[in-house]
Amino acid sequence: MDNYIICKTCVMDTKSDPSMVIEANGKCERCNMYEKTVAADWNHGRGHEKELQELLAKIKKAGESKKYDCLIGLSGGFDSTYVLHMAVKEWGLRPLVFHVDSGFDLPLGVQNINTICNKLGVDLKIAKIDQEDMRNFQLAMFRTGLACLDIPQDHAFVNMVEQFAVDNNIKYILNGENISTEAFTNPAYWDSVYGGGTTDDVFIKDIIKRFSPAPLKNYKLTNTYRRKLWLPYIKGVKVVKPLNLIPYDYETIKKTLHDEYGYIAYPQKHFESLITKFLEAYWYSKRFGYDVRKHQLSSLVVTGQITREEALQRLSKPSVTEEEGREMFKQVADFLRISEDELQGYFDMPLVKGDEYKHGSNWLIKLGVKIMFLLGKEKRVRK
Ligand SMILES: [Zn+2]
Repeated sequence: MDNYIICKTCVMDTKSDPSMVIEANGKCERCNMYEKTVAADWNHGRGHEKELQELLAKIKKAGESKKYDCLIGLSGGFDSTYVLHMAVKEWGLRPLVFHVDSGFDLPLGVQNINTICNKLGVDLKIAKIDQEDMRNFQLAMFRTGLACLDIPQDHAFVNMVEQFAVDNNIKYILNGENISTEAFTNPAYWDSVYGGGTTDDVFIKDIIKRFSPAPLKNYKLTNTYRRKLWLPYIKGVKVVKPLNLIPYDYETIKKTLHDEYGYIAYPQKHFESLITKFLEAYWYSKRFGYDVRKHQLSSLVVTGQITREEALQRLSKPSVTEEEGREMFKQVADFLRISEDELQGYFDMPLVKGDEYKHGSNWLIKLGVKIMFLLGKEKRVRK
């Protein structure tokens, strides 16, 4: 690639984020944003004991005389599993566990969910997305030519968990997101050029109208205003991220989860679901040149979990074998009830830019995120 650049501190490069720039001190913009705005205040989760105790007290108070004091959306992924463990074993909370089954759950993910819930003796509610809707929406997304193909599953995850909390009068949702593993989000470039927002209902409705084989019947949409304003300020439901208030060490956590619950960690983040595994290990890298491991591993490097050399070593091997990639290709085509040739046709179509489609105006939210980041309230580097 012409003018290829890789950051000397993390492993972000211009292949995965063509908008990346190296600043005067030789580090990329993300590394500098992390150091200036996130690192000092976060301090690797140390020194937040008082903040954590205050948060736990609020959660417990909100749950007084109720069966549950919080809701945990459990994907089966590493971080949501860890937050469940901490909530019950260390913090004395009484969570209701909520899992959204998109139809793409992989057997290991299901096994991990059932094992920890059984061992902890917590109530697990599983809600399955209408499979006809899921198929139609997912097929519509493949037909767009865009990169943001995880929206049907992600949108349902956030909306169903949040709606469930509202319907059941649970005031706190514990989220496993954290700085250690997610200091760097997906490059904003991906969404701004070949995508659209996960909670942009104007965009989603346009895609469904143009490409879905049938209108969706039971799949409910949310939007950014509903999530950021209606949910916390009208319904009083707060989404909190307590893993940022404690130290986080991946290897220690992995051992704890394995020893206590028989939890088996996945070789890569988001590999508990067939569709995210397929998109992140196969489709995005082969069709767009986007390797999600670059920002995922960069997060681990800048937060001191692994060395840059180890990240480069992991990147030198593909996420999955060619054979595993083709097997997933077949499974996804089967889910969509289309031939592999048809799916290959979407893979081979010219790249389509997101501005071919309608988008909602979210300038107020973007401004809000910017202000929150400058105030130190938004912890992740969104760039
Ligand atoms: Zn960097």
